[in-house]
Amino acid sequence: MASQDSGAGLVTVVPGAPFDLSAIDPDADGGLDKGAAKLALAAQRDRIRTLQERLYAERSRSLLVVFQAIDTGGKDGTIRAVFEGVNPQGCEVTSFKVPSQAERDHDFLWRYHARTPARGIVGVFNRSHYEDVLAVRVKNLVPEAVWRPRYGLINDFERMLTEEGTTILKFFLHISKAEQKERLEARIAEPKKHWKFDPADLVERQAWDVYQEAFTEALGRCSTPHAPWHVVPANRKWFRNLVVARTIAETIEAMDPRFPKAASGIAGMTVPD
Ligand code: AMP
Ligand code: MG
Repeated sequence: MASQDSGAGLVTVVPGAPFDLSAIDPDADGGLDKGAAKLALAAQRDRIRTLQERLYAERSRSLLVVFQAIDTGGKDGTIRAVFEGVNPQGCEVTSFKVPSQAERDHDFLWRYHARTPARGIVGVFNRSHYEDVLAVRVKNLVPEAVWRPRYGLINDFERMLTEEGTTILKFFLHISKAEQKERLEARIAEPKKHWKFDPADLVERQAWDVYQEAFTEALGRCSTPHAPWHVVPANRKWFRNLVVARTIAETIEAMDPRFPKAASGIAGMTVPD
């Protein structure tokens, strides 16, 4: 299979090679148990917090974290769990919904580019420019002649962002069809989850296979050396959160952000009364 298991639960899609999403097990848990994973998550969160402060202080590069998944796949829950405690000033989350008329009156990347993170910022995309080759494709919102060239346009866009100082991390949260059924049932059964339930999700569920096909092609075509796709087994929320948090921590650590040099002469300065 043209994907690489990092040994830590995450499967990275190998750029340019054929890719089979259905071969990845959404139930994988790395042999961990829930208690151990929750402790490990807390440690990874601390690490992210410390590293993010340096990225913010350095103010020269940024990180863009993209989340895609099928409905109920866990995008909101992952963002809540992983970024808890991060300095809100250094973090911007954008949830992309059905485009407005103004957004549809521009090129498809316009609204995403407007929300990419400034230097020093961690930007989080809850859904992203990939919707334009996912929902748009599955729901036939534009003809294939329009959505097909977008794989290349997305790769070019991401390469531009990377070369200009943005590191891109793309997570696909992979759940099974049975898991989605359980999560939808919970949204129907539990009053506190009613707000999350959209009857349209039941219609979308009928297109499960078409979505899997669209995900497979998007991940295969848009996993590039500068911005690879990572598939996260996501049936177990505690494992998913840990895998995502650890990957984010490792990525910022590899960026090695540094506190900027002190103002010259700071050592001898005194603060007047
Ligand atoms: P939710 O994330 O559950 O709040 O739902 C957002 C909805 O917006 C989903 O049904 C997405 O498919 C839809 N959506 C997001 N981006 C686009 C897009 N570019 N084109 C069409 N639909 C979109
Ligand atoms: Mg929804």
